[in-house]
Amino acid sequence: MPGLFPLPVATHHHLESLAAEVHRTYFHKYPPLPVRWGQQISRKQRRSIRLGSYNHATAEVRIHPSLNAPNVPAFFIQSVIYHEYLHHVLGPSHNRRFHAHERRFRYHRESQEWIRRNLLMLLGTRRKIVRSVPEPVAAPQMALF
Ligand SMILES: [Zn+2]
Repeated sequence: MPGLFPLPVATHHHLESLAAEVHRTYFHKYPPLPVRWGQQISRKQRRSIRLGSYNHATAEVRIHPSLNAPNVPAFFIQSVIYHEYLHHVLGPSHNRRFHAHERRFRYHRESQEWIRRNLLMLLGTRRKIVRSVPEPVAAPQMALF
């Protein structure tokens, strides 16, 4: 029976719910952090993308708005939130301890596999690009995913 109800508009992720689940599951000993979408800067093509950031001064997490898309799985967005929460708990360094904690996220492997396959889609380019994003030296308070 077509036409009875309008088709839903492209579904987008409810960031608060995703962040609340990450907090509840892994970081309930800490107060919840504000987690918000970052500003969308319209660029058709990028060479790199900062999927998430944690601001140590304000204790706020920003998630790149390109992840607010129906073809991005919720577990991947949660893996970015989880990563930024770890910066809150462990500090800015991606050291051995940080990586050990990172592997405790339930969908860690799935998330790594997903970004390996979909980074070009997020960048909006088909060109070959360098996958890894170097750590910023000048701005250590901002975390790269
Ligand atoms: Zn990081």
